[in-house]
Amino acid sequence: GQAYWLTGLNFMTSTFYMKELPKWVEKFNAKGNVKKYLEGKWEPLLPADKYRFSDENNNYEGRLGNAKAPKFPYDLSQVLELSRNYDLIKETPFGNSLLVDIVVEAIGAESLGQDEFTDMLSVSFSSSDYIGHQYGTEAMELEDSYYRLDRDLARLFNALDEKVGKGEYLAFLTADHGAAYNPGFLNAHSIPGGTIDRDQIKEELDSLIDMSWGNSDWVEYIGSNQIFLNHSSIVQAKIKLRDAQDHAMKLLLALPNIEKVYTSYSLMTGQMTEDMGERVQKGFNQKWGGDLVYLLKPHYFSGRVLGTTHGSGYTYDTHVPLLWMGWNIPNGESWKKVNITDIVPTISSLINVNRPSGAFGDIIEMKP
Ligand SMILES: [Zn+2]
Repeated sequence: GQAYWLTGLNFMTSTFYMKELPKWVEKFNAKGNVKKYLEGKWEPLLPADKYRFSDENNNYEGRLGNAKAPKFPYDLSQVLELSRNYDLIKETPFGNSLLVDIVVEAIGAESLGQDEFTDMLSVSFSSSDYIGHQYGTEAMELEDSYYRLDRDLARLFNALDEKVGKGEYLAFLTADHGAAYNPGFLNAHSIPGGTIDRDQIKEELDSLIDMSWGNSDWVEYIGSNQIFLNHSSIVQAKIKLRDAQDHAMKLLLALPNIEKVYTSYSLMTGQMTEDMGERVQKGFNQKWGGDLVYLLKPHYFSGRVLGTTHGSGYTYDTHVPLLWMGWNIPNGESWKKVNITDIVPTISSLINVNRPSGAFGDIIEMKP
């Protein structure tokens, strides 16, 4: 296998994959596509009345680099001059275009799909994530990015049709997460929600435990909805870890905006069957996980006020599309719930190979 990613102006790999960059990648880098894209403008692709899912003038958008306002048109060379950071391309739809540029090169240079052995090509359109975070789900910038991604995908599929052949390849398209509405936007529409300060939860929990068990440093770390208790403080106080977790769980549940709390003890020894608990349990690593996993109330998140983020188990964060196309895929559609973890077992069965060791999903039956 080989892997490439963008660092600054160039696509790179690591010695884990190969000793040096293949000639075709060097040649691609030499074209300087990042600079070319950032010399241009970002204007809406379509006439203004075609943007039905967004609002150009909402107050919840982050800015592109040091741009004066989160507003079209963006003169990218000007923003680049103010920001002096080529990483900006990630927050524009041209990050996706650049990716298709190199993927089209890769298909030819690596002779993908040209012999009797199956090749796998996976492409991560990460600009969609950066743009989503930066401007939020209501932004015209995001809607525009998807219209542009649609055209970039057409370019990719045309290249595959030409080099591999129509019906000779199987493609699937999905996302690793959805996103929340910006809480400010929801509040303006009388829907509760908000942003919270994660470190404040840490401090509040710590001082609540102080009140029960005396002053100590009880909470070590908070991050990714997990709380790590300070195990040496707990040992010193001669408290059982399980009791400390249970106590911290009860205290946390009394804080505003906390919806649910799970202890690592319950996640490691029990079996969650309720939908949200099951998701938390599947995402919990027994070796690396914290002592507690908490869920905020719906439409609350931490880390930013403008734009948006994701990471909860709620449907707005977890419901994503899944599209299949090409070789052995019949025409049709389904509204049945499937999981992203079903993709690998489905492909394994289609191409008649054993599943990889970590693939636990079900095979998705596709009937015409
Ligand atoms: Zn993200």
